[in-house]
Order: sequence, then C-alpha cells, then structure tokens
Amino acid sequence: MSQRRKFIKQSLMGSALFLPGVAASCAQVSPKENTSGEKPLILSTWNHGIPANADAWAKLQETGSILDAVEAGVRNTELDMENLSVGLQGLPDREGITTLDASIMTGDGSCGTVAFVRQVKHPISLARAVMEKTPHVMLVGEGARQFAIAEGFPMEEEKLSPKAQEAYDKWKVTSQYKPIINIENHDTIGMIGIDANGKLAGSCTTSGLAYKMHGRVGDSPIIGAGLFVDDEVGAATATGLGESIIRICGSFLIVELMRQGRTPQEACEEAVKRLVAKNKGINDIQAGFLAINKYGEVGAYAVHPGFNYAQATSQGNVLIDSKSHFTP
Ligand code: ASP
Repeated sequence: MSQRRKFIKQSLMGSALFLPGVAASCAQVSPKENTSGEKPLILSTWNHGIPANADAWAKLQETGSILDAVEAGVRNTELDMENLSVGLQGLPDREGITTLDASIMTGDGSCGTVAFVRQVKHPISLARAVMEKTPHVMLVGEGARQFAIAEGFPMEEEKLSPKAQEAYDKWKVTSQYKPIINIENHDTIGMIGIDANGKLAGSCTTSGLAYKMHGRVGDSPIIGAGLFVDDEVGAATATGLGESIIRICGSFLIVELMRQGRTPQEACEEAVKRLVAKNKGINDIQAGFLAINKYGEVGAYAVHPGFNYAQATSQGNVLIDSKSHFTP
C-alpha cells in the first residue's frame, strides 16, 4: 500500500463516525444522506460497505479513476473471511459448491459481468476483464473460469471456509429450501460512485443466495437488475432476493425513473413499490436499492427495515439506515 493511500485510509478510519459500531448505533440521528450533492461520493450496501468505501476512496485518491475505485472497494469484501455472502468464503449452493456472480459498469455504457463462476478470488476484477478485454458483456460458469485462468487471475482450491462448512452442515440436517436474506446485516455488496467531474461507475459482487439450486444466478451480474449506471442520469444497485429484483429490472428502472425527473429517493421508493406489487409472498423476503443521481443526491429504500448503506464523502464514511416499505 502506498504511503499516500495508507494515510488516507488511516485518516478516514480515525474519524469517530467511521467506526462501524459507532455509526450504526447513531445512524438514525447523526449521519445524514448526502443532500448537498457533494462530490466525490461513494455509496455501498450494508455494514461491509464501510471498509469497502475506505478502500474505494483511497483508490480514487491514488488513481483518480472512479472505475478503479468501485473495483478496489468491493475487492475488500471479496476477501473478508467473516462475510458469508460475498467471495469464495460465501455460503454454498445446495450441492455444497460456492459459485460467484459479479458485475461492473461505467456511465458511458461499458459493462462486464461474470456469473456462476467457481474458484475465482476476485470475480469483480474478472468482470472488469470481460468488459475491457473481450467483445462480450457476460461470461458464465466454466467459460468464465477458463478465462480467469488464461488471464492469470488468482484462483483458489474448491473448499468451503470453516464458517461456511459449519453453516452448510447445519443446513443439511433439514435441507429446507428457504431463501436466507438479510441475516446479520450483510449481503451482496453493491457500490456506486461519482467523481468530482460527475463521472459514474458501479460494481456488484456476491456468492448469491445461500443454498440456491446449482446453476442459479441472481440479479447481481444482470446489468439493469443488480446494477445500472448512466452518466447522463445516475446509478443504482440492488441487494436482496435476486429473483424479485430481476422481475422488475430494478436498477434500470430506478435510473429511468430518475431520467424522468424523480429524485433518487423517489425512484428507489417507486421501485420497491413495484417489486412488492410484482412479487407474491414478498412479506418474507428482503430487497433494497441504493441510488445516486448525477448531482450527487442519494436515495435508498428497502422492502423491510434492516437495510443500511455506507456513504463516503470528504466529510467521512458513515453508515445510514435506509427507510423501508414495511415498518416493524
Ligand atoms: N442479490 C443477491 C442474489 O440474489 C443476494 C444478496 O443480495 O445477497 O444473488
């Protein structure tokens, strides 16, 4: 890590609001969403967004590229051994195999995604390689894995992390197929950011729904569902039950609503309303959206309480509780 990057990271981490515990406990009263339109601005889903934002912020200072920033940020989460929903340490599918989905996009329409990929330590970087080095947008499964090997990506042997193995062994006792979302407040990481000049980029990476059917792909690697970015308007990302988000093209919907004049908050609320209307039995599941417009205004909304996001500006890196459609 360069000295400069180390300094920025340390100074961000030194602020009281930066501490996840502190920020979380006063999130209702203290941290405020960015209404002043301050840029640069980086947002990401859930508690793990705090360290991810710190890395993204440091990368932005280092290279000046918002694309580099959103890639670097979520790479942090992809390596977080405590995290059971992102990266190779994530919970496996029903067969006991962890498969990963990721997407990356910039505001000029460039995008790359990978889905149902195994053994790749940094699916977000693989998605970026798809975007930059192939004529395609999406690679899946064995093809994506082979591309990773050919590109010299770090790979890992197929083996569950001790935490994931323990959870999987417990799950096998009943083997009930029940989506587990919004447990322990950490899920997919979706990150969207805008630089000082108004350039936007976003990233999204996940091990997907725990105990999914082998081959299942969620919203995260689907451009327009888990992520959508357009410099003319803004960006949006999603977390939660992927099927419900794909059904309404959630992130694309939010960007299009903003294009028609809605604020990011209004657009997120409308998307959740639509999601609830189009998904029967939604009471049991969680989905949340995060949005930013080209003016640096922020929106967030979820089906149920419990969704939060991390917001980094020059003022610090804070956790903010999202409002929700249903109340406790
Ligand atoms: N959206 C992810 C999926 O459905 C799950 C999550 O947010 O954890 O794969």
